[in-house]
Amino acid sequence: MSIARRFGAQQGALWIKTAYVPYWSDDLKEYVFDENYGGKTYCTVSNQNLGVTQDQTKPSTITLCPSAFTNPQATANLGSKAPKVRMSIDKVLPQSGTFYHELFHLVWGSEDSPDVELPKCYSWKTTQLWLEDSPNIKPGGYDEDYQHLIRRNPESYLWFSVGYWLFLQTQWSDSSNQRWSFDTGVARLISI
Ligand SMILES: [Zn+2]
Repeated sequence: MSIARRFGAQQGALWIKTAYVPYWSDDLKEYVFDENYGGKTYCTVSNQNLGVTQDQTKPSTITLCPSAFTNPQATANLGSKAPKVRMSIDKVLPQSGTFYHELFHLVWGSEDSPDVELPKCYSWKTTQLWLEDSPNIKPGGYDEDYQHLIRRNPESYLWFSVGYWLFLQTQWSDSSNQRWSFDTGVARLISI
């Protein structure tokens, strides 16, 4: 997730009335503008929120929510769940993947690292459907098509990195020339 995406990144305009409110950062001594969470925060308004990166301030920052460290949708460690036939790459992402994802937002900047979240989702299956059915369609609010946006989506790099790491492992196969491959997005045991 990146704040600029949700904020609308109204660059070049000085006075725009929005629903966004200022949050004071005591560490940065600067304000950050974000949605009004009604007295709560990005991390406490929903336990679905894991982390966020913002580049409104100098320096840019990553916030990791407490839920990122207990996220039941992810494994405790990289490799702590053994691959099984047709297991989706989504099912073997580690909790540390949130930090890895946010690092892409931090280094590339929010505008150049679109989450492509229409609807909001970090699903490999949805991404695969976009690539198959509508690679040249520009989703609403974006000025590039799906195939270009997906190439800069941090989650794409998380899927690739975790999939490649699992491919290098030999502890879940009977012989050293067998590897678990997630090249299609789901696990299959292949001979190399
Ligand atoms: Zn993101």
